[in-house]
Amino acid sequence: MEIIHVSAECYPVAKAGGLGDVVGALPKYQNMDGHIAKVVMPMYRTKFLYNNQWEVVHKGHITMGSWGLDYTVIREEANLLGFDLFLIDINGLLDREKVYGYDDDTERFTAFQIAVVDWISQWNHRPDIIHVHDHHTALIPFMVRHCYAYQHLQNVPTVLTIHNAQYQGWMGWEKSRYIPAWDTWKWGLLDWKNNINPLACGIKNAWKVTTVSWSYLEEMRQSANGLEALFEYERGKCIGILNGIDTEVWDPVSDSYIQHHYGLEKVQDGKKKNKELICEQFNLDINKPLFGFIGRLVGEKGADILPGVISDSFYHIGRTMNFLVLGSGFPEVEAQLNSMKSLAWGDYNVYIGYNETLSHLIYAGCDFLLMPSRVEPCGLNQMYSMRYGTVPVVRDTGGLRDTVIDVGDANGYGIRFTNATVGDVTHAIWRSVQLYQDPDTMFDIRQRMMQLDFSWETSMKQYIKLYEEVRGEK
Ligand code: ADP
Repeated sequence: MEIIHVSAECYPVAKAGGLGDVVGALPKYQNMDGHIAKVVMPMYRTKFLYNNQWEVVHKGHITMGSWGLDYTVIREEANLLGFDLFLIDINGLLDREKVYGYDDDTERFTAFQIAVVDWISQWNHRPDIIHVHDHHTALIPFMVRHCYAYQHLQNVPTVLTIHNAQYQGWMGWEKSRYIPAWDTWKWGLLDWKNNINPLACGIKNAWKVTTVSWSYLEEMRQSANGLEALFEYERGKCIGILNGIDTEVWDPVSDSYIQHHYGLEKVQDGKKKNKELICEQFNLDINKPLFGFIGRLVGEKGADILPGVISDSFYHIGRTMNFLVLGSGFPEVEAQLNSMKSLAWGDYNVYIGYNETLSHLIYAGCDFLLMPSRVEPCGLNQMYSMRYGTVPVVRDTGGLRDTVIDVGDANGYGIRFTNATVGDVTHAIWRSVQLYQDPDTMFDIRQRMMQLDFSWETSMKQYIKLYEEVRGEK
């Protein structure tokens, strides 16, 4: 099968979060399984672009409203990622340093999608599946069905994967003129609550919709940032497929980002050496249990309660544990976390920013990984941490619920709590500190977690089965 993944992110080309990790791995595993999976994404100004060789495969022209835009499609020559990678260059619009966060993101991603469909519509053959990811690419299922110029792609099945339904790409109806001439009788397929809502449009128009865990799909019928009724209505075509992790990149035995490698037998020693490095670098105490947090410092991740959790833990449990936070996000949270450094010097530190190397060291060197997420569609951090023998301390939600069993339950290995509140998380930290004081159980849990199978094999096969089903419906 030939599968075209269309995405705003793809690791290691450009990554802002889990979407990048998934699109960097799933196509690779699909290719290993004998399919032809390709990735198309915008051409940003990233290191990966400048460090590699590219060939031009297509040049085209699109219109978006009253704008005429030239686009170029380039392909990475060496097949470094294990799949064909295509970048779409639209001068002045896509070629920025960051993936998101610009005032004209609507225009950028709409133009990107038009260019992708325009390019595919000019191929001599049709792909078997167009697989789009999140709202930045979710207008494509509508475009291939209802834009007059692309109607010969109407029978190509489209699959939308929702990695995060909080962001939906809303735009006012005045921007409907951006979409190439379309059947206006179908306006209802673009609309949600009097706006054009690309994510809702993707859910309505894609042949199948997947979310990145089962529990997240269930939760979205109750809470989906305004789309609850749509998830309820479309539930027949939605399914949850848990993300995998790229076990070639995320492996404590060979991880190129860490210095001290370890496998199952050497887990205690390996983790200790990595912890020593962290403690040296961040002035922490090697003898106390170390809690890490990695992620966007936003409400979704529960980052705003971290300062309260850290100070309450020191107050109620005592200075018996250490914390290290890595992330960036809301300026107020960043400022609060920074200002706490002087109050808890020696037991707490923070690195504000994005740092891939440090993230790997934290997974390897910490004893516990904190995830007080309010929303967690799948969550990759807990899977990485378990692979590195680090106990996840997670809120009972979304993908965290689907991947972490509490140590108090049969065959459990993690710590789960119910609410994203300072009290609940502090209690979970207290439980973790108790666990840490029992080295035999810690060792046993580490061994068990490291053997859990979160590889892409299983999830990739579920996607293939889904594609086969939709192709049968053609
Ligand atoms: P998200 O909702 O942000 O996509 P996921 O758990 O799906 O969350 O994926 C998060 C990914 O981003 C993980 O690979 C994690 O290690 C990485 N990550 C998040 N923040 C940072 C950071 N500040 N520095 C390095 N890596 C980060």
